[in-house]
Amino acid sequence: MADITPHETRLDLSQDGAALTATLVDFPSVSGTEQPLADVIEQTLRALPHLTVDRIGNNVVARTNLGRGERIILAGHIDTVPIADNLPSRLDENGVLWGCGTTDMKSGVAVQLRIAATVPEPNRDLTFVFYDNEEVAADLNGLGKVAAAHPEWLEGDFAVLLEPSDCQVEGGCQGTLRVILHTAGERAHSARSWMGSNAIHAVAPILARLAAYEPRKPVIDGLEYHEGLNAVAIQGGVATNVIPDACTVTVNYRYAPDRSPAEALAHVREVFADCDIAELVVDDESPGALPGLSHPAAEAFMKAVGGSAHPKFGWTDVSRFSALGVPAVNYGPGDAFYAHKRDEHVVVDKIHQCEARLRDWLTA
Ligand SMILES: [Zn+2]
Repeated sequence: MADITPHETRLDLSQDGAALTATLVDFPSVSGTEQPLADVIEQTLRALPHLTVDRIGNNVVARTNLGRGERIILAGHIDTVPIADNLPSRLDENGVLWGCGTTDMKSGVAVQLRIAATVPEPNRDLTFVFYDNEEVAADLNGLGKVAAAHPEWLEGDFAVLLEPSDCQVEGGCQGTLRVILHTAGERAHSARSWMGSNAIHAVAPILARLAAYEPRKPVIDGLEYHEGLNAVAIQGGVATNVIPDACTVTVNYRYAPDRSPAEALAHVREVFADCDIAELVVDDESPGALPGLSHPAAEAFMKAVGGSAHPKFGWTDVSRFSALGVPAVNYGPGDAFYAHKRDEHVVVDKIHQCEARLRDWLTA
């Protein structure tokens, strides 16, 4: 059962992480409807005298100002994907909490709030970021809006995103580049094909390059990444009796974070350098993020949380911190495997474990 109803203005942060997660889950906040939850989080944090609180839109940033030598950012999104008939939350007899947002990522948000409330004198200054619209189009992303409007709110030495990672550290993330390769030809009737030049046939060397391509597996800060260069779409043909004069191949390059977007593009141009390409158009690009695990704050974090780090192959918001010069990792109690699913759930012990390890790191 929810411990608050929407007209109440504060969360009870003395309840344990699991109960707080249930409270947050029972306060629906599907992307685009986060305002009531952002209001409650803001009011709850404003009541804590050791924090200064700022807000833009439905994004709330709270900070300690103790003059410590380092500043750590703990960040999480407060929105969820649409509810799949899986609310209210339900705690079963095996210590598993079920419901929309349990794993992605209200358990992580609960840990942020618990640390905010219970560690008033951390050994490093802390910045807590709660943001909206992570589960929808990138241009709506609240963390991106904060970064654009108030980058100084996100200054720090190291950031932890409490996204579901099953209490494993996931460092950095790969970048992604999508290009469209155009080949050209000359139209002719297929009965007199020698009068034209076939743009679909001109794609053959491009596909041969892709099929033979050997992706890099660079090791960065001890993490092995695994790149990929693949055709993801192909389009061509005018009519069944026409030699086509145009064809396109869409190529997606997922690259390790030791390459910049410009270097990734240069690499793709080089791969196809001696193919007969009429035009290469960049369709989409997002930079990767370095794991930054050699930073002293990150090293201390790894020591405190234990285990080994794993690379993140997909693109995540750690990249937004990386773009601001702040190394970042994912470390949260949820299990990404159950994110966005009807049977979304989180193991309560993981919530306690995540909170305890972060507390150890920030109070040692
Ligand atoms: Zn998430």
